[in-house]
Amino acid sequence: MTVPSLDSFNRIVVKIGSALLVDQTAGRLKSAWLTSLVDDLARHAARGAEIVVVSSGSIALGRTMLKLPRGALRLEDSQAAAAVGQIALARAWSEALGAHGLSAGQILLTLGDTEERRRYLNARATVARLLALKAVPVVNENDTVATQEIRYGDNDRLAARVASMASADCLVLLSDIDGLYTAPPALDPAATLIPLVERVTPAIEAIAGGAASEFSRGGMRTKIEAARIATGAGAHMLIASGKVMSPLSVVEGGGRCTWFLPHDSPGQARKRWIAGVLSPRGAIFVDSGAASALNRGRSLLPAGVVRVEGHFSRGDAVVVRAPDGVEVARGLVSYDSADAVRLLGQPSAAIEGILGFKGRPAIIHRDDLVLTGA
Ligand code: GLU
Repeated sequence: MTVPSLDSFNRIVVKIGSALLVDQTAGRLKSAWLTSLVDDLARHAARGAEIVVVSSGSIALGRTMLKLPRGALRLEDSQAAAAVGQIALARAWSEALGAHGLSAGQILLTLGDTEERRRYLNARATVARLLALKAVPVVNENDTVATQEIRYGDNDRLAARVASMASADCLVLLSDIDGLYTAPPALDPAATLIPLVERVTPAIEAIAGGAASEFSRGGMRTKIEAARIATGAGAHMLIASGKVMSPLSVVEGGGRCTWFLPHDSPGQARKRWIAGVLSPRGAIFVDSGAASALNRGRSLLPAGVVRVEGHFSRGDAVVVRAPDGVEVARGLVSYDSADAVRLLGQPSAAIEGILGFKGRPAIIHRDDLVLTGA
C-alpha cells in the first residue's frame, strides 16, 4: 500500500481546528504551535506549492476577549465573539506568515458564497487571484453574519468546499484526533486506525460517530462529509493530528494519519460544484426509463418526470430521484418549479405550446447533471 506524500501536491488546503489554535483554559492563541505549523507551510510554499488556510478559532478567541460565560453561546453572542476574535485570528496568521515573507489574505465566506453559482464564481476568482499573487488565503466562515439556519457551522465541510472551489489537489484536516478509527477510540480500546480509505462508502460513513464537543464543532461525521466532497472534487484528503508541533513534518516523517484517495477523474469544476451542493432547492422524481437514460449520460427530458417537489428557480441545484426516492443525480434545472410542474410527462416538442415560450428541450441538460447515485 503506497500512501501519498505531501510533497507531491501543488495546491494544499490546510484546515486548523479551534482546539489546536486556542488554549481552552486561557482562551489564548497557541503562538508557538502556530509558528511551527507555519514553518511547515512555508517549506511547501518555498518548493512552489500553493497554500490555502482554513482557520477556525474566532469564536473561541473572541469569547474570552469579551469575557463571555462558558458553555453554549447564544447566537448573538457567538456572532459578537466571532467579530472580535476574527481580528485577532487574522492578525496572528498575518504575522506568522509574514515572518516568512508570505502575505495573508483574509476571506470570510457564508454558506451562500459556496452554494450560489454567481457568488461561488466570485469567491473562486478571489482565491485564484490571491494564489497567483503568491498570497496565502486565510479562510473562515463569516460567523458574524451567519445564522443558525444559514451556516456551515463546522470548518471541515467549509474547507472541503474551499478545496473544491480552489481545485486543490490535497485537503489536510488537522484535528485533535490523528485519523479515522474503526470505532471511536474513547469508547472502544480495540479500535484501530485506518491508514487509507480508497473510497467513502456507506460502511465508512457508518464508522463516523456524530460526537462533537462544544469547543470544536467538527466531529468525525463532518470530516467524512468533507472527505466525500473533497475526494469527489478530485482532491486527496488527509486527517492528521494537530496536537503535535510541526504537524505536517510529523506526517511526512511517517506519523499516524488517514489518507482518503480521490475518485479517478477530477471532473469539471462545474460538475464538482453541482455534486457538492449542500442544500438543493428541490427534487425531481423521474420514471425508471428516465433514470436509466440518465445513467447512460442522457439529459433529463420532461417526458420522464413524474413529480416535482419544492420551490426552485431556473439555474438552482435540484436532486433527481428514482421512483423509489433513491437519489440518482443532481443538476441545475432549466425551468422554475411552477413551469416544471406544467411540463410533467410532456414531450419536449410540446414545451412552447404549454409555456408560451421556446424553452430548452431538457429539464436538466446533461452538461449540468452529475450522477450521484450508487
Ligand atoms: N468558524 C468557527 C470559528 O472560527 C469554527 C468552526 C469549527 O470549529 O469548525 O470559531
